[in-house]
Amino acid sequence: MTSRSVVVKIGTTSVTDARGGIAHDVLDAVAADVAALRAEGWSVVVVTSGAITAGWAEVGEGRPRPSESITLQAVSAVGQPLLMDAWRRAFATQHLAVGQVLLAPLDFSHRGQYLHARSTLEALGSLGVVAVVNENDAVADEEIRFGDNDRLAALVANLVAASHLVLLTDTPGLLTADPRLDPTATLIDVVASIDTSLEGVAGRSRSGVGSGGMASKVAAARMATWSGVTTVIAPAREATPLRRAVRGQHDFGTTFEPRPERLSARKAWIAFAVASAGTLRINQGALQALENHGRSLLRVGVESFSGDFVEGDAVEILGPQDQLLAKGLVRVSAEGLVDGDDVVVHRDDLVLLRMS
Ligand code: GLU
Repeated sequence: MTSRSVVVKIGTTSVTDARGGIAHDVLDAVAADVAALRAEGWSVVVVTSGAITAGWAEVGEGRPRPSESITLQAVSAVGQPLLMDAWRRAFATQHLAVGQVLLAPLDFSHRGQYLHARSTLEALGSLGVVAVVNENDAVADEEIRFGDNDRLAALVANLVAASHLVLLTDTPGLLTADPRLDPTATLIDVVASIDTSLEGVAGRSRSGVGSGGMASKVAAARMATWSGVTTVIAPAREATPLRRAVRGQHDFGTTFEPRPERLSARKAWIAFAVASAGTLRINQGALQALENHGRSLLRVGVESFSGDFVEGDAVEILGPQDQLLAKGLVRVSAEGLVDGDDVVVHRDDLVLLRMS
């Protein structure tokens, strides 16, 4: 991708109206905004939510939205083509074609699938087509669905090595407090340094995380900025929100500044995309070797481990106080770790997750 590339995610409350129908005015405005950025040389990938809500507006006959996940997955199958049709029309007025890419967590975990998804997105870009991404809700295993498109969008930003991630939503950005509870809440313009710990962000478990809302946006922002992607949470229903967001306009949205050095695409994949199959707890000596000297993790540094991992799996590496230090791919299986020696996680396959 070009050095100026943006992944823009639009949430359900922005994509749909109060009755659950598709908010064509919002899609039209976003499509115009995307077209304008492309004309300036940006490449743009759209991540859209709204399939389930639009699907229920179509078949729910005004009944309350169901809660069983299998029904919601079926409903997404109704809504997804409606959503794509709406995006197709919105972009057609800008003389742009759209291509649908549906992704599930496994597409990120399997390195081969991951690289294929990247090639497809790049090929769509070369064809001049706007990729419109959603989670493959209809078939994704409920146990491991992302469940919220904020995380999906952050992973897509890593996938295409985007310079920017813009999360368009129904609030002005990140506020100092919940405005419903505290009328003095104000917009946070810039978040300069991200929390030192990525606890809970770095693909800690195999199950899906979050359910949307501000927490999942901040988690997505932490993941993306750690990889080097500037992230902006901005209001969808303002004029030209995407252009204003990527320009870092003062008093518009909240900009999370990236870490100065980018993670390589492969290291971003290890850190955030692939699920952990176990944990290794290491001793103080190994902690220093990893964090201060950039060394590989050796068998002698591993105090204990859990999980039934095999060679090539990702594991979390915890410090003596169980603090999350790093993630990496193991070169030995859990069985082999008992009496093996040498390198357990090579430094090329290791990503530190704490600020040094
Ligand atoms: N993939 C879901 C949908 O299209 C949206 C998930 C979310 O709300 O972030 O309905």
